Amino acid sequence: MGQAFGFLFRGSGTQRTSGQLRTKLESSAAMKQSIVSLDLEGVLVPEIWIAVAEKTGIKELRLTTRDVPDYDVLMKGRLKILDQHGLKLADIQEVIGTLRPLPGGKEFLDELRSITQVIILSDTFEEFAKPLMRQLGWPALLCHRLEVAGGRITNYKLRMADQKRHAVAALKNLNYNVISAGDSFNDTAMLAEAHSGFLFHAPDNIKQQFPQFRAFDDYADLMNAIKLLL
Ligand SMILES: [Mg+2]
Repeated sequence: MGQAFGFLFRGSGTQRTSGQLRTKLESSAAMKQSIVSLDLEGVLVPEIWIAVAEKTGIKELRLTTRDVPDYDVLMKGRLKILDQHGLKLADIQEVIGTLRPLPGGKEFLDELRSITQVIILSDTFEEFAKPLMRQLGWPALLCHRLEVAGGRITNYKLRMADQKRHAVAALKNLNYNVISAGDSFNDTAMLAEAHSGFLFHAPDNIKQQFPQFRAFDDYADLMNAIKLLL
């Protein structure tokens, strides 16, 4: 190995030992690159289903992962309610089209993407996310997909269960230092899996239930915390 890397030291005027070289290589191998995974709804954009509830006047649609920890129970309930009211995918997409990122959310994401890699991990669906991703400058998004027949949402298709945690675990396997932030029950496995996990915009019941995660409510505070870990 000493011979192979000999060119590195030519002209330096110092003769390095193979021990010094080994130390140098080991320390550079230990230097980790970072990536940030962010939840979408509640962190960068409003809760889609709350907006749908407000537009349609259907109060039961206000329930989110903050209220119902079991995502399957929550989604099956939502689809049943949509059917009862004759609401189709296009109706929901129309509402989503009126949503804007949370104040400061786009700017936070832009700054973060300029200093590190960012991936959005969401339990929403491709069909819902598109108008919001356009407004956020098309960041990388991993989420799920709906099953639609005749415009009616017949079911939802999770690409895989527990995808947020699996995504973070996969990024760790790629030797990334993973920093995550989210606001809900469905984020806590991701936060626990990450090297550093933060709650952001979390309601009090989540903060109380998961005191192991530092909680922030302002983008500037979250940005500062992330910058210290990069
Ligand atoms: Mg959320």
